[in-house]
Amino acid sequence: MGELEVPVACPCCAALTGGGTCPVCFWTDDGQAEADADVVRGGPNGDLSLAHARLNFAVYGASHPRYQDLVRPARPDERP
Ligand SMILES: [Zn+2]
Repeated sequence: MGELEVPVACPCCAALTGGGTCPVCFWTDDGQAEADADVVRGGPNGDLSLAHARLNFAVYGASHPRYQDLVRPARPDERP
C-alpha cells in the first residue's frame, strides 16, 4: 500500500475495473487491445475475441451470455 492505484479501464466494457476479470462484463484482461481486438486468443476468454465480447456486452450486458448472472453494474467510481 501507499502507492496511488490508478484504475485501469476494462478493454471490453470500459469500466475502471481492468487488470483481471472484470466484475461488470466478466472479460478477463489478458492484454488484448485495439491492435488485435478481432483475434481469438483462446486464453482466459476462451473462444471470445475482444471485438465479439464488446458486441456481447452491448447486447447482453456481459462479455458472453453465460456470464449474465455473474456480472454487476459498474459502481459510480468505476464508470468510464
Ligand atoms: Zn469489463
